[in-house]
Amino acid sequence: MLAAPGLGGRAGEEIVANRPRFRGKRIKEDLASYARLLVDAGLVLGVCDWGFCVYREEYSACLGNAAGPNPARREPSTCARCQNFVVSEQHRPYWAIQVHRCQELLDEPALPLQTLRIVRARLDEARSLVRAIDCGRKESS
Ligand code: SF4
Repeated sequence: MLAAPGLGGRAGEEIVANRPRFRGKRIKEDLASYARLLVDAGLVLGVCDWGFCVYREEYSACLGNAAGPNPARREPSTCARCQNFVVSEQHRPYWAIQVHRCQELLDEPALPLQTLRIVRARLDEARSLVRAIDCGRKESS
C-alpha cells in the first residue's frame, strides 16, 4: 500500500501527499524502514475486501474504540466516507462491481424514492473511488 501508485479514499490522499518518494536500488529497504517507522508511531492497518483501514480511533466513522474498528458499523459505505480509509488498485474490482450493481438497480422502474436516493449516493461513492484509483494509476505511468 505504501508504494502503490493509485491510492484513493481520504487516508489514501493523505498517504500520497506525505509519503517519501521510493526509488532506486534500496526501494525495498526504504519501504521496510518507512513501514517500521509508521508501526512504531502506532499505525494499525486493517484489511477488508473493499479497502484498507489505517486505523485512528479519533477519525473512525464506524465509531471504533481503542481496540479497533467497530465491527457492527464497519461496512463499505461507512468506510468510503471515513478519514481512515484507503483504496488501491486491488480494490478496484470491488468498487467497479458496485458501480455496475447500482446502475442496474437504477434501471428498476418500481424503485421507491428513498431507495433511489440511497442507490444514487452509493453510485456516486463507488464512482469516485474508481476514479481516484484510475487517476493515481495514470499519474504514475
Ligand atoms: S469506518 Fe472503515 S475505514 Fe473507518 S475506522 Fe471503521 S473500519 Fe476503518
